[in-house]
Amino acid sequence: MNRIEQFFGTGALDTFKTPEAVVLQRSEMQSRADCPHQANLCVKYKDKIERHEVLPETGNQVHKLAKVAIKSNEHSLQDAADYITEELPKIRPDLQPEALRAGRNLANEIRRFEGSRLLLCEEPITRSLIPATQDTGEILVVSELDLVLATSKQDTIIVLDYKTGYKDRTNAEALDDFQTCVGSWDLWGKYPEVNTSHWWYLNTRLHTRSYARLERERDEENFGARIFEVARLYIEKSDEAWPEPKKCSMCDVTRWCKAADYEAKKLDGDPKSYIDAFVALEARYNDMDKIIKAACKDGRRLYGTGGYIDDSPKKKPSSRVSFKEVKS
Ligand code: SF4
Repeated sequence: MNRIEQFFGTGALDTFKTPEAVVLQRSEMQSRADCPHQANLCVKYKDKIERHEVLPETGNQVHKLAKVAIKSNEHSLQDAADYITEELPKIRPDLQPEALRAGRNLANEIRRFEGSRLLLCEEPITRSLIPATQDTGEILVVSELDLVLATSKQDTIIVLDYKTGYKDRTNAEALDDFQTCVGSWDLWGKYPEVNTSHWWYLNTRLHTRSYARLERERDEENFGARIFEVARLYIEKSDEAWPEPKKCSMCDVTRWCKAADYEAKKLDGDPKSYIDAFVALEARYNDMDKIIKAACKDGRRLYGTGGYIDDSPKKKPSSRVSFKEVKS
């Protein structure tokens, strides 16, 4: 026991101790931002979740290769792209078809930015969200970005994030993505002189790009508020469920979730019956469609509750899924 504790009693020194910092990784926060219940179920059933290993493993391999290529060719993205192209055929043979498609596209995309100075390549960036108090440690938010480049303007940077999955984001989705939010916010903390970020998601498997332009003045405060709310849900161990058809149909834990969207749960429970039901429904839909079209040909208008059908041209082409027959 030291002199302070002799005088004030055991544990008195704890009053002066700062509690340990709480480090929140962007990837961990992501599922809380989508649906806190999903994050909890993913932890609970982590050993039972079925994983489709090819795409994630391809992603790891391509990211690893890109990191080595860029770090060893810091001054020329052209050389880094050449390195990726040359090394791709050495990737595991079982992953090669996917890896070659994604890696070659990534190399082509990286070439477009030749001449831009490298700032960061897959290094963690940390920013303080909430300072430490007597009872809780400082809350830090960490993200890791694939590639951050300087531009000819001192207040503008470029962020590239490569994706090897099946998701094709629109530009609006890229702007609203939680990763864009945390990454930009962390970057504004690291680079006080930066105002504008040109953010590109390179969807390497699909050969598409999604773009978002972020402005400090417009976005920083809003992003901070969103991150704060996710951190609160994380720290309070929230178990709220936020079902939505699109979200639940891509969720890994739909089968264990009592709140899942009805259709997503039916599809997850028995995909074959679900697709068979869809095909039967589609066949009936096609018959009904033909009959209604024929009935409206002469300018007749057919009324239902709250609306009608006539033969005026459709404004948008249909974006429905189509069933492809397997020839035996
Ligand atoms: S199925 Fe839907 S509601 Fe349930 S955990 Fe997944 S995303 Fe959340």
